[in-house]
Amino acid sequence: MRFETWYKHNFEDRLSGRYITLDHIDPILKSYSRDFEVSSIGISEEGKNISMLRIGTGSKKALAWSQMHGNESTTTKACFDFLKFITQNEQFSEEISAFLNSYSFYLIPMLNPDGAKRYTRENSNMVDLNRDAQDLSQNESKILRQAFHDIEPDLCLNLHDQRTIYGLRTGLPATVSFLAPSADEQRSITASREVAMNHIVRMYNRLEKLIPGQIGRYDDAFNINCVGDTFQMLGVPTILFEAGHFQNDYLREQTRMYIFFALLELFSISQESNRQAVTSAYEKIPENMVNFKDIIISNIRLEDSENSTSLAIQYREIVRNGEIQFIPQLDFIGDLSTFNAHKHIDAQHKTVLVNSQENIKIGEKIITIQDKYDRNNVIYSNNDPFSL
Ligand SMILES: [Zn+2]
Repeated sequence: MRFETWYKHNFEDRLSGRYITLDHIDPILKSYSRDFEVSSIGISEEGKNISMLRIGTGSKKALAWSQMHGNESTTTKACFDFLKFITQNEQFSEEISAFLNSYSFYLIPMLNPDGAKRYTRENSNMVDLNRDAQDLSQNESKILRQAFHDIEPDLCLNLHDQRTIYGLRTGLPATVSFLAPSADEQRSITASREVAMNHIVRMYNRLEKLIPGQIGRYDDAFNINCVGDTFQMLGVPTILFEAGHFQNDYLREQTRMYIFFALLELFSISQESNRQAVTSAYEKIPENMVNFKDIIISNIRLEDSENSTSLAIQYREIVRNGEIQFIPQLDFIGDLSTFNAHKHIDAQHKTVLVNSQENIKIGEKIITIQDKYDRNNVIYSNNDPFSL
């Protein structure tokens, strides 16, 4: 509770929303140059600076990188919340000095500044850096590998966001998911994997108390082109973090807090969970499923058909005037009974017009869905404040 209270009043409010670029983090990094070693470790394909912070002087070395995928900014926000936490000295000073004395934490807050600016997963050459671990064809990939070689970390944190389509068997969204990536095709439990699993179990136990049923585990199929799998293969415990959707939190201001708590637990700052975690407990963490749509409209009749069906809408995220806009698009028509929705609408078997027309195509932007025979009855509208 003490940590929650601190967070509510003190998180890094200079960063908010989904669109986080170098312009947002640079001034904050500057302000930390008094507290930590902040260095430039290279430039992106478009010539933007890639920075790394070194926090603490301890013998355990952890290397973390966020925004390897440019449009995945939640963990970046959480890292800056964490920096704010460890630089204050009004509270938790004992825990913080224990962390600073035991860890040297190397943080690359934005590995892909070009993708961040464009709000794309890929870098400026449209290369997915998380599939470039063998080719090392891009500056950003080389910079990360160089840092990995220079630092020789004991632990790596690969920080990402996941889409709103992920959920769990609980019917709840996967707000936070983890993976201890495999080190080989056989998915063996290597020594480094076991270390990663144990850390994950501790973070899972901690978060389960805050968001029960909303924490998942990713599929562990081995892919040598992924950075996490490669580092695990090289014998360094590596953890994939995936920040996901929390109810009504499309801007991921709530999710960032859970990532912050996961970091506190990881670095043993907030010791509230069972320390006796074992690898078998990792297998018990529920697996992530693709079982969510942003919006499902059920019992809807299209083109005067006899039977009602269901329709799914997914948001496409675009940058406009420096903000992310969520554009609703038709995603699927048909049986959606195995899916959950972040918002559910019952069309009560009305025959409808979509965007004032009878015919709609998958991928089309949805502006309104109205009752065909009573147009004042608006079943869905893009102006709905709920749909952002
Ligand atoms: Zn990612």
